[in-house]
Amino acid sequence: MKTKFIFVTGGVLSSLGKGLAASSIGALLETRALRVTLLKMDPYINVDPGTMNPYQHGEVYVTDDGTETDLDLGHYERFTRATMTHANNFTTGQVYESVIAKERQGRYLGRTVQVIPHITDEIKLNICRVAADVDIVIVEVGGTVGDIESHPFLEAIRQFRADVGRENVLYIHVTLVPYVETAGELKTKPTQHSVRELREIGIQPDILLCRSDRELTPEIKAKIALYCNLKPDDVISAIDVRTVYAVPLSLHEEDLDAKILEKLNIWTRMPDLRHWTDIVDRFENPTAKVTIGIVGKYVHLVESYKSLNEALIHGGIAHRCHVEVKYIDSEGFEGEEGRAVCADTLGDVDAVLVPGGFGERGVEGKIAAITYARENGLPFLGICLGMQLAVVEFARNVADIAGAGSKEFHDHCAHPVIDLMEEQKRVSQVGGTMRLGAYPCEIAPRTLAAEVYGQTTISERHRHRYEFNSAYRRRLERKGLVISGTLAGHDLVEIVELKRHPWFLGCQLHPEFKSKPAYPHPIFSSFVKAAMEKRQGTLRPRKTRRRPRTAPGKTRRATRTAGVSKRPMDSGRGDA
Ligand code: GLN
Repeated sequence: MKTKFIFVTGGVLSSLGKGLAASSIGALLETRALRVTLLKMDPYINVDPGTMNPYQHGEVYVTDDGTETDLDLGHYERFTRATMTHANNFTTGQVYESVIAKERQGRYLGRTVQVIPHITDEIKLNICRVAADVDIVIVEVGGTVGDIESHPFLEAIRQFRADVGRENVLYIHVTLVPYVETAGELKTKPTQHSVRELREIGIQPDILLCRSDRELTPEIKAKIALYCNLKPDDVISAIDVRTVYAVPLSLHEEDLDAKILEKLNIWTRMPDLRHWTDIVDRFENPTAKVTIGIVGKYVHLVESYKSLNEALIHGGIAHRCHVEVKYIDSEGFEGEEGRAVCADTLGDVDAVLVPGGFGERGVEGKIAAITYARENGLPFLGICLGMQLAVVEFARNVADIAGAGSKEFHDHCAHPVIDLMEEQKRVSQVGGTMRLGAYPCEIAPRTLAAEVYGQTTISERHRHRYEFNSAYRRRLERKGLVISGTLAGHDLVEIVELKRHPWFLGCQLHPEFKSKPAYPHPIFSSFVKAAMEKRQGTLRPRKTRRRPRTAPGKTRRATRTAGVSKRPMDSGRGDA
């Protein structure tokens, strides 16, 4: 089959869930055994989002190949089997960078280099780059129709249909149909305007996905269809749902997948939706609940910890447990008074998580939270910066190394237990130069990490410049810090834990980037399980815990490796 292309644009306003719509379309097409990939085109000038503030842009998602990308790529990987690489996200900055490089090489043969055709050709080239070996490419156009920056992208996708043939391209426009309380009705005008804007550029959408807080009535669908030059059937109600993982099912109920296939003239088998119904059932019918405190800096912006939030939800799905996340600003834990606030606040949670981060603000408060978790046997997960601060906390308060710190915050600190990585000392540019992407890690036997992963070598993604300073390794180990993961073939420390604590793990790597709803990451699944046990009062220090009993018919080895999430919904440790 010739590769087909679905372009997803957005109108009226941003944050309508275009990324989720694109991901859900991908998920639905996969239930019919089609091979899909997704691509995000971002109209901003930055070469990648790696240098952008999470306040403005949300989380920076990292792929296996070490690309710093838009957070929508996280949705793409969580919803589908597609693997994202540097080719699956590009920006205006990248397009211009490469056109200008070609111009300098003289590849335009003396012609005047222009937006049309040179920039638009480059955009089309980038779209085609991901099309090998898949049946369908879903392309999400960032920004909102009408933005000045989006124009070259819209022009490129307009031309695309003529290039590859009408029957191989579909335009889906995501728009808003607001309910206006005072009028007591759903309003179609914003949708009409945004479709008019698209048509002015020459794009007639084939399907409209109308976001609204309630079902569109047949009359409203007919009205939108009339004004937007569509059949009422092609106006889809995309109502708000309780979990993002219900979006594929709710779009399927509106027959979206069948319509797409009909318009693209594709024959497939019937969809197998069991995967998604099971996820939604587990999410909507929990039998337990935990509260997890995330102690961080951008705590009021859920978007900055997108993958983390999702990974915690997946950990909950594994155990039919509702995970309530409490965002706590670590600055409130600083100073003498802060200590009492910390004890008070963390006294109410079942587990603590200190996520990755950059910059000094709130660091001492995060350390205070770690002290509390360590001293009170509260399950603790530290990710990247969270791991680095756990090492600083241990050095200061258990190993009595006064003045222990991270060079990131104190250039002249007496004991840099966290130091700049050797290769980073030669780096002069900020963008794209961290230790990025997937690296193999060896897990030490008989550790919590070994129990969690059930594997001796794992691969996880990274995004950092600083590292555990090996000069302090022996000294900290003698005091009870366990080094349970190291970079394969090197002594670079990747995972640390505490001997006598029930569940305390600090990892330099970012497990949240590899968690999926049907394949919860074993670290999150195990962490949520520990939080459940903490709440029930059954959490025991690791040393006194009994070995898992060998189930009848299973060898001990089989029991020990049962923590790896190889099958859907495998929940990791404790469920063997
Ligand atoms: N700021 C730390 C570093 O660069 C941690 C980074 C992170 O948490 N992703 O090493």
